[in-house]
Amino acid sequence: MRIAIISDIHSNLAAFEAVIKDFDGIEEVWCLGDVVGYGPYPNECVTLLRTFQHICIPGNHDWAAIGKMDTADFNPDARRAALWTGEQLTTESRVYLESLPLTLTEGDFTLAHGSPREPIWEYLFHPTQARANFDMFHTLYCLVGHTHVPMVFYYPTPEEGFIGPALYAQPGAAITLGQRRFILNPGGVGQPRDGNPDASYAILDLEAGRIEYRRVAYDIAATQQKMRQLRLPEALAQRLSYGW
Ligand code: ZN
Repeated sequence: MRIAIISDIHSNLAAFEAVIKDFDGIEEVWCLGDVVGYGPYPNECVTLLRTFQHICIPGNHDWAAIGKMDTADFNPDARRAALWTGEQLTTESRVYLESLPLTLTEGDFTLAHGSPREPIWEYLFHPTQARANFDMFHTLYCLVGHTHVPMVFYYPTPEEGFIGPALYAQPGAAITLGQRRFILNPGGVGQPRDGNPDASYAILDLEAGRIEYRRVAYDIAATQQKMRQLRLPEALAQRLSYGW
């Protein structure tokens, strides 16, 4: 079974469609939240996700859009986009986003948007944070999004001591299952933040016992044009060009 691990679509339909075109042999999609927020096509992205056999958990932007979270902690651009997104959501999209469970366990994997200990809010950037989070889930592996940065944190071996290694995953990098515990972030589909503007995701191949990182170029200008037409914050459009 081959599963696409995606996160942070952020209403970027062109990026999501390009990632779907890149799918090969995918039977199921695991989505790690922030389907909406920032971008111009919230309902279209929810609808497209729902055409797949899939599971999904909510992110902070999904919760903000349905009014389940105050946007006081958002920066002004993110808040403006969240309010706009909330106004656009159809009843169907809203009901779907409201139905998502905070975390999920699927086989050897725990799914959480930010981290297992703070599923909505924690940005997992550092091995010391990862080390604390390894005690907060009971499966072998954990999948997170939220930072939009493709990364893997490994559980430390006794020789390594308190913290394990972390790596920024390059396109094509393959992570092997069955050796040690890890927390893995597939990167962001709709707003990558590692300096590479291409959409980022990963493919889990259960039979081969590995996860492969993928990057996909998409029509960034089309998304930007729509954002400008809708008068969404200009900085949110521009950052897509840089992948930050
Ligand atoms: Zn996000």
